[in-house]
Amino acid sequence: MTRPTQARLNLRALRHNFALAAQLAPRSRIIAVVKANAYGHGALSIACQLAPLADALAVACIEEAQALRGGGIASPILLLQGVFDAAELDTAAQLDLWLTIDSERQMQWLERAKPAAPLHCWLKLDTGMHRLGVAPQRATQAYRRLVACPNAAGEIVLFTHFAAADELDSAQTRAQMAVFEELCEALPGPRSAANSPALLGWPAAHYDWVRPGYMLYGNSPFRQPHPNTAALQPVMTLASAVTSLRDVAAGEAVGYGATWVAPRASRIATVTVGYGDGYPRQARNGTPVLVNGRRATLAGRVSMDMITVDVTAIPGVAVGDEVVLWGPGLTVDEVAAYADTSGYELTTRVPARVPRVVTVE
Ligand SMILES: *Cc1c(COP(=O)(O)O)cnc(C)c1O
Repeated sequence: MTRPTQARLNLRALRHNFALAAQLAPRSRIIAVVKANAYGHGALSIACQLAPLADALAVACIEEAQALRGGGIASPILLLQGVFDAAELDTAAQLDLWLTIDSERQMQWLERAKPAAPLHCWLKLDTGMHRLGVAPQRATQAYRRLVACPNAAGEIVLFTHFAAADELDSAQTRAQMAVFEELCEALPGPRSAANSPALLGWPAAHYDWVRPGYMLYGNSPFRQPHPNTAALQPVMTLASAVTSLRDVAAGEAVGYGATWVAPRASRIATVTVGYGDGYPRQARNGTPVLVNGRRATLAGRVSMDMITVDVTAIPGVAVGDEVVLWGPGLTVDEVAAYADTSGYELTTRVPARVPRVVTVE
């Protein structure tokens, strides 16, 4: 018997979500974002599924790209933040990666480099998020330098990133689109702006390339229900099992800090999953948990390796019964709301200790 805690990955759901993205953005090419270990799902197994479907993949850094190339992924791979020093340019060229250029220093590294082959470049424009990208007044000059640079291959993709596309009526997003469209008017080349929320909720921002990440893993980036997110299927199920059961009398406390006190005689199930498995320590008393497919609630503070759950209302719970922390029937975003975080963070933080069990269903 091994510890029952595992992250089950439903690759059929992944393909389904990809198909939904393709259907919603039929005129755009798709660059599937698999950074941060594919949002915690396991970069290589996810990339192996997506590589034949997507036009390209995207990662945050060269180490992530190296792991994919090492695993046999031959698709185009974009480095979303470009390179972090001049030496990485040689590696990027050897691995045949696509480069983001978002700053003067990256531009200079590229201009001064002697890469084995020229690299495809995406020029990132800061249209209002103010995190990365070339300022609007320098965009034309940066574009011209790239066109003139012998180390930049082929067409230059113009791209930007939205700060608030998860708000369905956002003046910020409309303003960013206006700035982006004005900048691009004079500069030929494919355009890209849409992350998952823009792909799902802002069709006018699809342009030539969409860049979905989160939605491919089956989760909604919106706080409210949306017709385009209803069909998403969660790829990850974080599952565990009941390993101990006890009855506590009314007034007895459970867990560290004695933060939960039984309001009535209660049945408490101990489940072998904790913050050492990526279940958020901030999850409050009352956070929903599925026990045998039925909703129970967290009772007491999350420990490193265990949680305690009030199963009083569920008859017949036994040691060994299945517990789902998030997955079908309980979205990771619902859990995240009880921990003042986002589902993005929760899936990404599931550590290597949790075995990934791949199902194709
Ligand atoms: C992470 C990232 C994405 C994907 O965002 P999601 O909200 O997960 O779809 C797209 N573009 C860039 C530049 C990113 O860094």
